Amino acid sequence: MKPIDLRSDTVTRPSAGMREAMARAEVGDDVYGEDPTVNALEARVADLLGKEAALFVPTGTMANQIAMGLLAGKGDEVLLEQGSHVFAFEGGAIAALWGAQPRGLPGERGILAAAALEAALRPENDHYPRTRAISIENTHNRGGGAVWPLAAVRAVADLAARRGLALHMDGARLLNAVVASGTPARDYAAGCTTVSLCLSKGLGAPAGSLLAGPRDLVREGRRLRKRLGGGMRQSGVLAAAGLWALDHNVDRLREDHEGARLLARRLGDLPGVEIPFPADTNLVFAAFRGRVATDLVARFLAAGVLCNPEGSRPDLVRFVTHLDAPPPLVDEAVGRMIAVLRG
Ligand SMILES: *Cc1c(COP(=O)(O)O)cnc(C)c1O
Repeated sequence: MKPIDLRSDTVTRPSAGMREAMARAEVGDDVYGEDPTVNALEARVADLLGKEAALFVPTGTMANQIAMGLLAGKGDEVLLEQGSHVFAFEGGAIAALWGAQPRGLPGERGILAAAALEAALRPENDHYPRTRAISIENTHNRGGGAVWPLAAVRAVADLAARRGLALHMDGARLLNAVVASGTPARDYAAGCTTVSLCLSKGLGAPAGSLLAGPRDLVREGRRLRKRLGGGMRQSGVLAAAGLWALDHNVDRLREDHEGARLLARRLGDLPGVEIPFPADTNLVFAAFRGRVATDLVARFLAAGVLCNPEGSRPDLVRFVTHLDAPPPLVDEAVGRMIAVLRG
């Protein structure tokens, strides 16, 4: 029995078409700015996000952390949602790399209200850190793939502009939000100083992320990328996968969302299973009442379904749909899990 892997949308393998595009890529040394495929991808993503420039980096973590390094320095404070990737899942990098102080605030499925952010801003006083930046995440991973309403992003952007703060958007899955909401990426990005975008999640590329923003900041971001060891050479081979993904794998995110809704519906119909959030995009959380997620995940694995304990409560399991697990396979996975639950 072939396992069905619903642990993450990062588990996808590059398709034959993508590999062909990678093989054909024209390349140069990108540290010299001479890789035409990287340059084309950077221009393409800058345009997609309505920004002056973009920078190709190996990972989403690096894209986010370059943004943090650009927007906050030693002793500065960055406000984030407490379950956000930049705050909770990047190894303490804001403090470790830049000496800035992150402050996690509670959100609603990861979405921060502008009023709560405003209340957290510190007055000018020698005792306090200076709040310099806000970071938001769209879609929100720990929020179960929650999509930010455009009005909520605008409210945070207005606050940032009014109070002289920078705003970063971790858009690792921004295109999932775009496809789910119909809001153009550049509208989401409009009030943000910097925006990151992952090619290696739902878009199906093997590696790579971008950080987009104003030209001078992105220029400075190249220095930070080099400092972090992220200056790659003939990385057009990877950029070609990203361009291919943007051409072929954006609209099809719809299918991942359809698979997630199917999964949520079928699991939610089972006795003892509760779906705490609607499946807005490609993440599904399911609470298995009276069971321990780590045990259940091991039993699902033995039955050919890979998934992860979600971690925020003991009975919660996380499933992620992606291009290598289309709706028919999701359906098959549910069948295997039902057999475990009945056994
Ligand atoms: C996956 C992810 C990232 C970046 O992860 P990398 O593994 O470093 O590419 C950033 N933000 C969110 C919300 C993510 O889910």
